[in-house]
Amino acid sequence: MSKPARVFDDAATRRICKKRDAQRLPPNLVDYAATCASFRWEDAAKQLDGLPGGGGLNIAHEAVDRHLAVGRGGRTAIRWIGKAGGRSELTYADLAAATNRFANALQGLGVQPGERVFALMGRLPELYIAVLGALKARCVVSPLFSAFGPEPVATRAEMGDARVLVTTPELYARKVQPLRERLPGLKHVIVAGGPASREDGVHGWSDLVDAASPDYVIAPTDAESMALLHFTSGTTGKPKGAVHVHGAVLAHMVTARYALDLHEEDIFWCTADPGWVTGTSYGIVAPLTLGATNVVVEAEFDAQAWYSVLERERVTVWYTAPTAIRMMMKLGADAVKGYDLSTLRFMASVGEPLNPEGVLWGLEAFGKPFHDNWWQTETGGIMIANYAAMDIKPGSMGKPLPGITATIVERLEGGGARVIDEPGVDGELALKTPWPSMMRGYLHEDERYRKCFAGDWYLTGDLARRDADGYFWFVGRADDVIKSAGHLIGPFEVESALMEHRAVAEAGVIGIPDETVGEVVKAFVALKPGFEPSEALNRELLGHARKRLGAAVAPKQIDFRTNLPKTRSGKIMRRLLKARELGLPEGDLSTLESDEKK
Ligand code: ATP
Ligand code: MG
Repeated sequence: MSKPARVFDDAATRRICKKRDAQRLPPNLVDYAATCASFRWEDAAKQLDGLPGGGGLNIAHEAVDRHLAVGRGGRTAIRWIGKAGGRSELTYADLAAATNRFANALQGLGVQPGERVFALMGRLPELYIAVLGALKARCVVSPLFSAFGPEPVATRAEMGDARVLVTTPELYARKVQPLRERLPGLKHVIVAGGPASREDGVHGWSDLVDAASPDYVIAPTDAESMALLHFTSGTTGKPKGAVHVHGAVLAHMVTARYALDLHEEDIFWCTADPGWVTGTSYGIVAPLTLGATNVVVEAEFDAQAWYSVLERERVTVWYTAPTAIRMMMKLGADAVKGYDLSTLRFMASVGEPLNPEGVLWGLEAFGKPFHDNWWQTETGGIMIANYAAMDIKPGSMGKPLPGITATIVERLEGGGARVIDEPGVDGELALKTPWPSMMRGYLHEDERYRKCFAGDWYLTGDLARRDADGYFWFVGRADDVIKSAGHLIGPFEVESALMEHRAVAEAGVIGIPDETVGEVVKAFVALKPGFEPSEALNRELLGHARKRLGAAVAPKQIDFRTNLPKTRSGKIMRRLLKARELGLPEGDLSTLESDEKK
């Protein structure tokens, strides 16, 4: 595989990126090598509380109730910022009582442990209460993204065998009622914030939940019992339903501590919606297990509004995504300068590769870099990360978490995989099994699940390489890699090179069939404000890419777009760019965000 020189991977850049922040709190992970050498999940498990009397492990107990017993009930657990200017706070004691009421309400309806509770609502306090309350009742929770239309909602609720749905009257009328006949197993709908319809089985939150008792004792819970059902983003095809268990909470807690440097005294903001795994693992569970304050913002992305939240709420740790970072970059670093963000200590990013430009822009705009980390719905928690106390190599995903072994493998024909982990060699990223938050299955897709494993390894479907210092570099998804004249080209490399150009806001790169070389590289580019598509700019970008990447890897064609197609979780859908370019079927579009939306 071709390996264009990486200008960012040098000592000088690393020095620039060394934390300039005088650490107000010592990092949780100081000595990476020593921690990895001594780390054992069994030891880390001692940081969990466990249900009283040896009753097993329940995520909601670890996230909420345990804090009350040690006098932290008065601390703010959730600080909610509504989109219409509303604002409310729930202390850990409030959250314990509210989630107890919800668990009692489910019990009162006769809902059994293991039955599926779906949530379809915006980021309202009731969503957080429902998720944790249902976990207390030992139900399986599946939060859906509230912007889904009726079809994606029905498909997932059908596939996941939804017994209860928690939603709002408006979402129920628009998104559930039209296809309700497809869901005969859906026995109860709980609607929050408004009058319930008079339909059978539809209950108003205030009649049912607020009226329930605030006392509830979580029944013994097996750490291996199913707790969460998360659908993948659908970037590469039809979304899969990944099954997670209560025991995953250990990884949520440990990884937040190490990879997000989260401390009990932090004010944490994860911008992801709980409809995606990040918004649940780190937008609900992880910060609460550590006793931190979790900021929940109902509104969608708006750069100025986000800077205001960071300033006003005195956010200390911020976890966001490359799409948002690229949108902020579009507006320039000066837009950040008027805000007092002096409390902000650590910034992290996940979901897509973070272009080196994004890391460096963090330094320019916020005076600190974004720390990229890598994981998937299937892994349940962060697996590879850039840590607070470690040098960043911009463009690298960082190093595996303590307790996680990552390697590079080659899939063998006829099954199995061979480890090919030499510095600089590209192959499929694989993780050694097991770890606590590893998925326990793909719902109704056993064969597909089995194909993710070879011997001791979980095969991620992503291509990567490791360098001599042990940092991992994302190359591309196995499905997106381009084969051209004997080279394997990762789209990320090409996109990152284009992003270095001052006119480029966003780039998506695909391969298109070519008789001579197999595939040629084609790029789709969205421009920053102030730049217009033109022949001259097209030539300039082609020339820039050729200079940076060499003729074999650089795109041969560039098309300008106002916006690139993305999933609702913000990932560029290269498969859709490709299908449209080649006139092929577009496949599952249930997670596509409207292309016109910025
Ligand atoms: P689907 O599996 O349905 O196609 P998806 O893979 O996008 O969707 P998620 O589980 O939400 O669904 O996303 C995980 C994937 O996102 C990873 O496998 C990887 O391709 C990409 N990803 C996440 N974080 C990073 C990162 N820091 N760098 C590079 N890629 C990342
Ligand atoms: Mg995936």
